[in-house]
Amino acid sequence: MERYITLFINDELSGMRMKEFIEHIEGCQSCFDEMETNYLLKEALIRLETEGSYDLHGNLMTKLKNTGKCVEVHEMITMIRRIVLICAGMALLFELVFAYAFYL
Ligand SMILES: [Zn+2]
Repeated sequence: MERYITLFINDELSGMRMKEFIEHIEGCQSCFDEMETNYLLKEALIRLETEGSYDLHGNLMTKLKNTGKCVEVHEMITMIRRIVLICAGMALLFELVFAYAFYL
């Protein structure tokens, strides 16, 4: 069963052997405990490997930079909208002035 536990933890158990293993683990507390311990240990190691080398400071800086970029883009869009509105307003004003000059 110990071999099965290792195989199960490594996702190498399938078909009948998986069924057999699950059936055994459901009725055998000591195997279940061992499987649980091995599983938690493996997960902890994976987390240490991936997050241990994780550059938390760099990640935070990237996040801040991206947030800053978002703010810049948002401000630019707001500015463009304002310019478009002003242009539209001026065009409307010109039209009114021309219409006034021509027809009245
Ligand atoms: Zn057992």
